[in-house]
Amino acid sequence: MSLPVNHIFIHHTAGPRCLIKSRCSKIVRDIQKYHMSLDWDDIGYNFLIGGDGNVYVGRSWDKIGAHTLGANNISIAFSLLGDYMDFLPSIKMLRVTQLLIACAVEKKVVPKRYLLHGHRDQTCTLCPGDAFYNYLRRWPHYLPGPLSTYVCKS
Ligand SMILES: [Zn+2]
Repeated sequence: MSLPVNHIFIHHTAGPRCLIKSRCSKIVRDIQKYHMSLDWDDIGYNFLIGGDGNVYVGRSWDKIGAHTLGANNISIAFSLLGDYMDFLPSIKMLRVTQLLIACAVEKKVVPKRYLLHGHRDQTCTLCPGDAFYNYLRRWPHYLPGPLSTYVCKS
């Protein structure tokens, strides 16, 4: 992928949560298996964040992912393990997500004036969950739906 990219997309996995490394690793491997069963090159996200506070490497910083339809080549994606429709990720996970964003800036993967979005800002999806999405909208650099004129068909 040609860096820097201007956009960061935040996702949730809409799957199980975890609190210990062995369990989080297993979940990440299961997602990788699932994504590769779709004939993708590898797990779709650039990085994943576990409830254990660890960051799991997906496609890393410089490989185009398969996470956000229409924006894969101009963004990186971080996905939090779990389903955040009804409640927020843990404080630890939120903190790690912000550290990962800061790391992306420091590594010049994104510019200082990056734009932050939830997956649903780009495509018709519930991701990253109602509770988390509403919270994310208050984070620095957040910008709603700048990339697409896509409208959810109800
Ligand atoms: Zn998503």
